[in-house]
Amino acid sequence: MRAAVFLDRDGVVIEEVSFLSSMHHLALFPWTTDAIRALNRAGLPVVVITNQSGIARGFFTDAFVDEVHREIAARLSVGGARIDAYYYCPHHPDGRVTEYARSCDCRKPGRGLIDRAARDLDLDPARSFVVGDKWSDIELARAAGARGVLVRTGHGAAEQSRQDAGVAADAVVDNLAAAASWILTNLKSAV
Ligand SMILES: [Mg+2]
Ligand SMILES: [Zn+2]
Repeated sequence: MRAAVFLDRDGVVIEEVSFLSSMHHLALFPWTTDAIRALNRAGLPVVVITNQSGIARGFFTDAFVDEVHREIAARLSVGGARIDAYYYCPHHPDGRVTEYARSCDCRKPGRGLIDRAARDLDLDPARSFVVGDKWSDIELARAAGARGVLVRTGHGAAEQSRQDAGVAADAVVDNLAAAASWILTNLKSAV
């Protein structure tokens, strides 16, 4: 089983725009492609795990989310970078789309998405890394036995200043580029 890097999507890989529902608002950060390519070259599987409750809320469809992921993949490939797989939670307990309006084990900080990816791709969560812009991403890392890196992009700067998080990150860094560097430096100290 391999170590992997699990990336939150909004605020980490792409700009946080609060319920991305139009392709016009999709923007990679300027460093995203280089950061992911560096992880690719190190032989680390890179997997997006993202809560997309906008599906349950009726803001956009699962087909749209798939389309966004195809577009992200296309833009990354121009720079020779690759995300190996995309997993998302479409649920929310307060949603209004009946099919998805429920609690589930895949909404982060639940570890359902990581467990699914681990099975599909033969990954070892306990040797892996989670990069996110919310404390819930770090809680997920804790739940999975992975190391958690909080980035200050997206919600990250605001999250960092919250006093009540109740969870500590293994590192707090400026952005995905710095997170990738931290991971590559700390890879060898993995269990
Ligand atoms: Mg996020
Ligand atoms: Zn879910």
